[in-house]
Amino acid sequence: MFRHGVRTFATSALRMAEASPHTIAVSKAQGIAKGLVGAIGNTPLIRLNRLSEETGCEVLGKAEFMNPGGSVKDRAALYVVKDAEERGLLRPGGTVVEGTAGNTGIGLAHVCRSKGYKLVIYMPNTQSQGKIDLLRLLGAEVYPVPAVAFENPENYNHQAKRHAERLDNAVWTNQFDNTANRQAHIETTGPEIWYQTSGKVDAFTCATGTGGTFAGVTRYLKTVSDGRVKCFLADPPGSVLHSYFSSGGKLIDRTGSSITEGIGQGRITDNLKQDVDLVDGSLNIADEKTIEMVYRCLDEEGLYLGASSTLNVVAAKEVAEKLGKGHTVVTMLCDGAYRYADRLFSRKWLTEKDLLSAIPKHLEKYIVL
Ligand code: PMP
Repeated sequence: MFRHGVRTFATSALRMAEASPHTIAVSKAQGIAKGLVGAIGNTPLIRLNRLSEETGCEVLGKAEFMNPGGSVKDRAALYVVKDAEERGLLRPGGTVVEGTAGNTGIGLAHVCRSKGYKLVIYMPNTQSQGKIDLLRLLGAEVYPVPAVAFENPENYNHQAKRHAERLDNAVWTNQFDNTANRQAHIETTGPEIWYQTSGKVDAFTCATGTGGTFAGVTRYLKTVSDGRVKCFLADPPGSVLHSYFSSGGKLIDRTGSSITEGIGQGRITDNLKQDVDLVDGSLNIADEKTIEMVYRCLDEEGLYLGASSTLNVVAAKEVAEKLGKGHTVVTMLCDGAYRYADRLFSRKWLTEKDLLSAIPKHLEKYIVL
């Protein structure tokens, strides 16, 4: 059943990948990208040398911080806009509306500017002035609204939806449940990983926010490898997905929190829904390990990464150790540390979060703020 489904899907996914103009035709190293949107994707796959030596595996990270907007979310932003155009929901001069506090907004701002659309962003008013300023600087109209739960009609997502409904030629891109997000990774990230490793990939792991990246890459890699590539979902504290997968599908209430941003989830989003059966297992990664890896990646590899990226790196290391020597494990380096530096490298913040002792003595020299 599963195999048949996967094989049928394989042909169409491969065909889609071949047809995708920006996956195959444009490379960051060769040719000319057609405007900003042509420069999204085709990111390098970086071998994490020290962790590879330590585990006896190839531990590889997809350098998503090299996208024009600085994160993996540029891919989803491009695809939700393209999808709205193709479905006739967005015509020249139209408006994109989204509820987001982070990277998706920045990705959408770049894509909308380059394509001539207006962008309206709703976000919880608990977010930093820096984020609001950046989005406004990139041309977005920003509405900080009270930070209330998803069930409340005044939640920023519902307000974004209603705003789009009030306008003509406008679309609410709805990143959590719009599967054009997942499609971006089926058509671009997945094929890139397969191509860059020449198909020699044994496992993939990453955390999820909307689930688009994990589900799309998992779907593609399972499809082209006929189910051989093992896919593990990585989860921060305060997210329910690890418990969902390790309990055979029970959803618990969300409790606890994490220093990571942009990942962790309280429900099975539409982006994740179609691929839950493909998941081989899940890992729960404690903040202590994630923060230590922020410092290790900087010190050992010169990689300046945000906490969701280093949570993924910890997960890749654990998967490599689980599989044993000689395997190739791929993960996502979702964004850089630039937007988080005032916290991740601050002694005061680390102390407040009770994470100072997680930084090995020889790496304390990086605590400079
Ligand atoms: N890392 C960061 C920094 C993000 O902003 C996001 C998106 N929320 C993710 C990881 C997770 O990506 P996805 O939404 O595709 O699950």
